[in-house]
Amino acid sequence: MIQLHQVSFSYDDLSVLEKVSFRVERGEFVFLVGPSGSGKTTLLRLLYADLDPVGGDLSVVGQQLTRLDKVSLPYFRQKIGLVFQDFKLLANKTVQENLALPQRLAGTPPPTIKENVNKLLNQMGLLHHQKALPADISGNERRRLAIARAVINNPLLLLADAPTEGLDLRLSLEVMALLDALNFQGMTIFVATSDRQLAEKCNKRIIELRDGGIH
Ligand code: ADP
Ligand code: MG
Repeated sequence: MIQLHQVSFSYDDLSVLEKVSFRVERGEFVFLVGPSGSGKTTLLRLLYADLDPVGGDLSVVGQQLTRLDKVSLPYFRQKIGLVFQDFKLLANKTVQENLALPQRLAGTPPPTIKENVNKLLNQMGLLHHQKALPADISGNERRRLAIARAVINNPLLLLADAPTEGLDLRLSLEVMALLDALNFQGMTIFVATSDRQLAEKCNKRIIELRDGGIH
């Protein structure tokens, strides 16, 4: 599902990743753990082809990224769900519209969109907020909306960047339970976090990012 071979990345002369290699198999749930500034967000951006490595090879959902052309990029991205650290919800669209949009872009027929949106709203406890704007729901609800939006097109792989940042342990475990349920349905889950304790509590595989390398 994810395969990195000697991947290096730098922002100008700041080297962030040095010859990083690892694999994640289909159906796995893996934590990428590392302190703030260790390169977690950078690594995720490489995985969804938002950045290009300066060296090495990587392949994600069966696509060799060094060979990915601009035309194939949207098709590649459709196979991946992204939960951004700052959610990136559409502020002027309702909860319901935020969820429907990725389905429309994927060409899903409207009756199916309605069905899928309702199902996820229900699953995420957001049904009563469907007409609200993101600014009018709680931070936690926005987080669940961001997760819902990431998975509505049923991606093979979910990449989540610090999805429990700022949450206490109870709420963090709730988010992890949501991700675990998705994993149980077969989705591969890759979560970046600086919270090593949380990752350890979840009993999943942990990849540690430190000093530009995997440990
Ligand atoms: P993390 O997500 O683990 O906190 P990042 O991947 O955001 O780490 O950052 C890794 C390093 O790269 C940090 O030193 C950060 O300051 C730097 N960095 C991140 N984004 C940029 C950017 N767009 N331009 C230059 N440096 C960056
Ligand atoms: Mg980060």
